[in-house]
Amino acid sequence: AKITAASRVDFSLDTFKEVGNRYQIIEKIGEGTFSSVYKALPLKQRPQGMPEEDTYVAIKRIYPTCSPARIINEMKHLRGTGGCHYVLSMFDALRHEDQVSLVVPYVPHDKFKDFVLSMTLPQIKSYMRALFMSLDHLHAKGILHRDVKPGNFLCNFKENRFMLVDFGLAELAPNHRHLPVSTTRQKVSGTVQKDVHTNGQKRKLEDIPSMSMTKKPKLNEQKAPAEVENVALPENSWLRRKSRVMHAPRAGTRGFRAPEILLKFQRQTTAIDVWSAGVIFLCVLSGRYPFFNSPDDLASLAEIAAVFGTEKLKRLGMILGRKVTFPIDVEATDLRVLCESLNRERSYKLPDSAFDLLGKCMELNFERRITCADALRHPFLNEE
Ligand code: ADP
Ligand code: MG
Repeated sequence: AKITAASRVDFSLDTFKEVGNRYQIIEKIGEGTFSSVYKALPLKQRPQGMPEEDTYVAIKRIYPTCSPARIINEMKHLRGTGGCHYVLSMFDALRHEDQVSLVVPYVPHDKFKDFVLSMTLPQIKSYMRALFMSLDHLHAKGILHRDVKPGNFLCNFKENRFMLVDFGLAELAPNHRHLPVSTTRQKVSGTVQKDVHTNGQKRKLEDIPSMSMTKKPKLNEQKAPAEVENVALPENSWLRRKSRVMHAPRAGTRGFRAPEILLKFQRQTTAIDVWSAGVIFLCVLSGRYPFFNSPDDLASLAEIAAVFGTEKLKRLGMILGRKVTFPIDVEATDLRVLCESLNRERSYKLPDSAFDLLGKCMELNFERRITCADALRHPFLNEE
C-alpha cells in the first residue's frame, strides 16, 4: 500500500518527548475533543498498579491547548474515583513542557456505531447496567461526569468489559438527592465555550464536527428552534435569584445535554448524567446514533419537544422561570412506537420495562428523573 504523507505517523521518541524511552507507542487508538489516545507497551518498567495480565497501556496525550486546570481536574478524578465499578483509573502522568500525557489501563473496545444496531437483549442489559453502575459510583461520591456519551463509555462485549472514561469535565457536587454542582464554572451565554485555551487561542465546542453516522431521524416537523425568555417568578421563590441571569454551566456534548442545561438552569445536578445515559439508551433502543444532532441549544429543545411533546417542555420552563415557545405544538410520541419505527430490523421484541426505564431516565423534570441507584433496581435490569 502506498503511504501518503498524511497517513505517515511519526511515533519516534522525538515526537513523544514526554514518553521518552519508557513506552513504545504501538498505534493511535482514539481521538476525543481534547486528546489523542495511543496503545503503548511499557519498556523497562511496568507502571505501578498495572495488573499482571495486562500487556499494554493507553497513553492519552492531552492537547497542549487544554487549560492546566482541566488536566489537573481529570487527573484528580481518575486517581480519586477510578479503578473499580467500570470507572477508569490512572497509572502515571508524563510531561514534557506543555505536553501532558496520562498513562491509563488499555481497554480494547468496540465502536458504538458498529454494535448499536446488532445488540442482543442481554447485551443491552449488561451495557446499561455497567453504565449506571459506573455513574452511581461517581454520584455516590458526589461527582458529576458531565460528558456521558458513547465515546466516553467504552465497551468490549467479547470480554464483557466496560469502562467510563474522560473526566476532563467532571466536577464535585454538594449534597442533594440528585446532587447539584457548583455554579462557579466559567459562565457562558449564547455561544459554547469549553475551557480550552492558551496562547490566546480559543476553541469553541461547536467548531468540532459531530459524528454523523445515520441520517437524523425524521420525527415531527418540529424543525424551527424554540424560543426561551425569562418570566417573572414570585418574589419569594428560591428560584428567582438563580434563574434571572441566563448563564449556566453547559460544558458537555451537543445532543446529550439535559433540558435543564439547555434552559440555562444554574443548579444542575447529577441528574444531567442520567439524562445523557438516557440519550445513549434511546440510541440503543432506536438504533440511531446520533439521535439528537442539533447545532444549538434552542434547536436541541425543539428536538426534545419533538419526542416528548411541547407541553412538557413549556411546563418545565415555567418551573425554572423560563418562558419556552415553539413555532408549532406537538404531542408526545410513544417511545416504543418511535423506536420500533426507526429500527424495523430488530429480530426480537423489546420488553415494556425497557421503555419504562427509558422514560424515567428521560424525565424532563430533573427533580423527578430516576437516580442511577434506582435505575439499577429497575425491573428491566433485573428480570431475566
Ligand atoms: P477526550 O477527553 O479527548 O474526549 P477520551 O478520554 O474521551 O478523550 O478518549 C478519546 C477516545 O480514545 C475514546 O473515545 C476512546 O475511543 C479512546 N480511549 C480513551 N481511553 C482509552 C483507553 N483507556 N483504552 C482504549 N481506548 C481509549
Ligand atoms: Mg471523550
